[in-house]
Amino acid sequence: MSASTEPQAGFLSRRRFFRWASSLTAALGAAPLFSSAKTLSSPTAWSDGEDYYAKLGVPTIINAAGTYTTLTAACMPAEVLAAVQKAALHPVRLHDLQRKAGEYIAQRLKCEGAVVTSGASGAISLATAACMQHANNINVLDMPQAIDGMKNQVIVQRAHRYGYDRAMYLCGARVTEVVTLDDYKRACGAGHAVMTNFFNAAEDEYGIAGSAQIGREEWLRVAHEYKIPCHLDAAADMPPISNLWKYTAMGFDLVAFSGGKGIRGPQNAGLLLGRKSLTDLAHENNNPEEGIGRGMKVAKEQIVGMVAAVDWVLSHTEESMQGDYQKRVDRIVAAVKGIPSVTTETVVPQIANHVPHLLIRFDPAVTGVTTGQIVAALRTANPPIELNPNTGQKPNQGIPADANTLVVGVWMLQPGEDAIVGRRIRTALTQKA
Ligand SMILES: *Cc1c(COP(=O)(O)O)cnc(C)c1O
Repeated sequence: MSASTEPQAGFLSRRRFFRWASSLTAALGAAPLFSSAKTLSSPTAWSDGEDYYAKLGVPTIINAAGTYTTLTAACMPAEVLAAVQKAALHPVRLHDLQRKAGEYIAQRLKCEGAVVTSGASGAISLATAACMQHANNINVLDMPQAIDGMKNQVIVQRAHRYGYDRAMYLCGARVTEVVTLDDYKRACGAGHAVMTNFFNAAEDEYGIAGSAQIGREEWLRVAHEYKIPCHLDAAADMPPISNLWKYTAMGFDLVAFSGGKGIRGPQNAGLLLGRKSLTDLAHENNNPEEGIGRGMKVAKEQIVGMVAAVDWVLSHTEESMQGDYQKRVDRIVAAVKGIPSVTTETVVPQIANHVPHLLIRFDPAVTGVTTGQIVAALRTANPPIELNPNTGQKPNQGIPADANTLVVGVWMLQPGEDAIVGRRIRTALTQKA
């Protein structure tokens, strides 16, 4: 039996080898080395790639909203994408890449240590796991199930509670909620805390979910009096670019940023920056170790993409980045100029999404169309346009909208899309004229 199957097995494996060699050649963009390259797709077809959105029937959209995960947030800049594509062709030892990427980012962002995480939410989980370990004599594999009787509290102001609390719970941590400074000192003194969490954008001058009583500096000072590490969630808080080192320089032990928002790295990447002793523990809890970070795998493509995105951000000045966003706003303003009752205003939220947003106010009695009708018209246009979700809403997160205000987030627009958005909004506003 083996005699009859052997030649065939040899034939198959040889064919498989040729297919592998040919596709490798194609992937490297070189001319085919083997003449039996029947299975080889042409290099042109490879570099163009199949349009799977078209193949799957998923409509592409124009993102005039902002860095919203439901809209897949940022698109990587060409330089970042090219770096990812290059890295994707070569395996490496994951630990080597994690360590070197962390060191490089820490050096560029002026902090002691850095971890490329699966996003800001993943960073919060790794931060919590690191602090749980720091406060207790436990192993990576003890969380969340084997920590009875251990320290497990994260102190948070009531006004800073949010959905991302779950990123902490999954390590076995629980939240101690405080309101006043006295509450906070008592909670710190009780000796159960492993970490404090500060939601950076909650200090926005417009306030989110009620106003917190304890400011950033005081929060940090008290925690450090009690030797409790402070984590700051600054996920959406770049730009300004200098925020990437401002908060670690202030003394926050750990700071989380989303990679797929303003930094424009891969959407499923993020950064945990801070004190090396803690980022080292975060690394220990990260994939491929089988602790809480195992399901938050960050592949070589995202790690390299995140490093390249940091380089991309740092290749800009604050003025060039904000100036580019302002130009997009100006083009849309010009497109809606002169429509009866329409006024425009540019607002820059204080902390999160600190970029120019365009507010287009109008009187529906004059235009004959409502906010809801305009949103629907844009959504069903070709290509569909999604406006910022603060459109038609009460003032929120630094955006003073109202029922008759369209909010345009320009920073996630691709080149040329500002003109399309301007034209479509003009059409929508004047459809009854
Ligand atoms: C977006 C955001 C997150 C989550 O970021 P991901 O990178 O999507 O995980 C966490 N916290 C805040 C305040 C955010 O705005």
